[in-house]
Amino acid sequence: MRNFAVARRRMVREQLAAAGVADRRVLAAMEEVPRHLFVPKLLRHRAHQPCALPIGYGQTISKPFTVGLMSALLELRGHEQVLEIGTGSGYQGAVLSRLAAAVISVERIAPLAARARRTLAELSYDNITVLAHDGVCGLADFAPFDAIMVTACAPYLPPLLVSQLADGGYLLIPVSKGREQILYRYRRQGNEVLIEQSVSCRFVPLLPGVEEGAEQEEILDADIAPDSDVTGGPGREEHLA
Ligand code: SAH
Repeated sequence: MRNFAVARRRMVREQLAAAGVADRRVLAAMEEVPRHLFVPKLLRHRAHQPCALPIGYGQTISKPFTVGLMSALLELRGHEQVLEIGTGSGYQGAVLSRLAAAVISVERIAPLAARARRTLAELSYDNITVLAHDGVCGLADFAPFDAIMVTACAPYLPPLLVSQLADGGYLLIPVSKGREQILYRYRRQGNEVLIEQSVSCRFVPLLPGVEEGAEQEEILDADIAPDSDVTGGPGREEHLA
């Protein structure tokens, strides 16, 4: 365990702080959350490398820089209720849970949601709730949210997400523009939405519907190949998502 803590400290220093992620709370959260527990056992030794890793079901855990950058862009102070769309491994949600009062994270692949829920429970991260749910329509029952983070690429900005954002809140979402993907930060101001930031990126697609399916306990060698990584970010990033 000590080695993982050392690897995390180094990851934060070299991949985040040195790359321009300055928010101290984000750096502290990523030094705290045990990233290796969110990647398949077979890949734990690679958990702190500067790349996305497969987590099964054709999905990936985002690379550390992406998680750091996206977390910092939400400018959380600790009192917020946050919606994450695309739980995946649960890692990004775990980091958000250290930065906000409460996180609700939704995932369309039910067995991934179940696995993330288990990992988070084992860590006693109890201010995060994971639901198997299609996030395209957001989560009206729990709205408004002070911040919304989407970790899969949408074809356009889903209007319902804007309507579920509190006034002044940030919505972070990758949107495809032709062959490119752009990560936008929108801010709601009354009935207007302003684009405040944009950076080139690559994420897996935001897809409709919930997928049930058997839980895959361990990742298979065959899974270790998906090319769902990204270019973009400050400088040329090999694996943003
Ligand atoms: N944040 C994750 C990585 C996200 S990968 C982590 O830290 O590990 C993107 C995830 O979004 C995938 O797991 C994918 O299944 C999920 N996803 C795609 N479309 C979705 C939708 N409509 N609703 C909810 N989740 C969705």
